Amino acid sequence: MTSPSSRHVLIAGAGIGGLTLACALRRAGVRATVFERADALRPVGAGITVQMNASVALRRIGLCDAVVAEGERAEQTLILDPAGVRITGFDARSLQVDLDAPMVSIHRARLQAVLRAHAGPEEAVRLGVSVTDFQDDGARVTVSLSDGGTVSGDVLVGADGLRSAVRARLLGAQPTRYSGYTSWRGICVAPDLVKDGHFTETWGPGARFGIVPIGHGEVYWYATLNAPQGSEDAPGQTLAVLQERFAGWHAPIAQMIAATSPERVLRTDIHDRPPVRRWSKGRVTLLGDAAHPMTPNLGQGGCQAIEDGVVLGECLAAPGSVEEALRVYESRRVKRANEFVVRSRQMGQMAQWENTAARFVRDALIRRVPESAARRQLQTLVQGMR
Ligand SMILES: Cc1cc2nc3c(=O)[nH]c(=O)nc-3n(C[C@H](O)[C@H](O)[C@H](O)COP(=O)(O)OP(=O)(O)OC[C@H]3O[C@@H](n4cnc5c(N)ncnc54)[C@H](O)[C@@H]3O)c2cc1C
Repeated sequence: MTSPSSRHVLIAGAGIGGLTLACALRRAGVRATVFERADALRPVGAGITVQMNASVALRRIGLCDAVVAEGERAEQTLILDPAGVRITGFDARSLQVDLDAPMVSIHRARLQAVLRAHAGPEEAVRLGVSVTDFQDDGARVTVSLSDGGTVSGDVLVGADGLRSAVRARLLGAQPTRYSGYTSWRGICVAPDLVKDGHFTETWGPGARFGIVPIGHGEVYWYATLNAPQGSEDAPGQTLAVLQERFAGWHAPIAQMIAATSPERVLRTDIHDRPPVRRWSKGRVTLLGDAAHPMTPNLGQGGCQAIEDGVVLGECLAAPGSVEEALRVYESRRVKRANEFVVRSRQMGQMAQWENTAARFVRDALIRRVPESAARRQLQTLVQGMR
């Protein structure tokens, strides 16, 4: 049995989850090599909200302050109707103080840069090589790479996202599950259009629009719309389509779309996978979207990838065999992450309702839920990571 300090961990994928794991292992003195398919770290041009549970996880590996410094702290989070009238929300500033846990939105490139800076020397993250296959002989695991090479280590972690090759090899290839709605994400420079720290999401018939300042004078926005899978915008028409679809919704939605360059908009159909109870076999495991891809309705996909990376890093740095470490990792992570998969899907289905009467009743019921209920839920969430 190798001691943790002489272990070599192989990681497929340098997304949020793979890099967080590399940072956690480096801090614990365990060697890791990350293989990333892309030839440069080019995260999608969008923002991401790092919720309080994920910032508490980042604090455990010493990276919370660095991430907070690059993003924008939440002051208020609100759900509105298309006229701009509040449906629900909470005072994010006071909750962060009460729970001693920051909530920030950040440009993905800045988050990735912070993680990469702490993930180890240049050779710890090998760019432009995919993991194409692996062999686990019980004592070592050997990965085959797209450049024809092979590398052996003590454990392989598939952190290779929604369409993970490691997962397909480990659990069998399964199609992803389309949610019924598509999304657009954009970034514009529009600090004066949005109040500092005000994160809003507006719910209309079969469509939503979110506005999130991400610091550095930039604002991230996203839109969702019920649509057939694989439908596309006519070339050059994306912003016009969005202007038309969200016409009549409250300010500054039209202004945000108008302030965005077409090349800074990204369209993604929303998929997840039904939860599974095992992510590991032998010396191979999964984390992040490779393990538990979820719809983005609770803003937890990346946050759960961060939690996975921190916890798996702790498990692999603890004395004991690799197999034991992976068992403990699953026991600490599977139930919690899978609950988000289920709840995110339910939340998305309800938030995308089109029927006017059903939406009226939904909004009226949500308005009656006291803010204290949301606070208690977030408290439980944060405590789960302490
Ligand atoms: C519209 C939208 C909004 C979202 N908003 C939020 C939010 O606000 N907060 C939040 O927490 N989450 C959010 N998410 C979810 C979040 O983006 C994902 O859950 C998160 O990126 C998952 O990280 P990951 O590291 O597991 O996977 P990924 O980010 O997908 O990274 C996987 C990496 O693996 C690489 N790769 C793939 N195959 C291979 C291979 N064979 N070999 C080597 N490398 C490979 C890829 O190039 C990539 O770099 C959102 C998602 C969407 C679609």
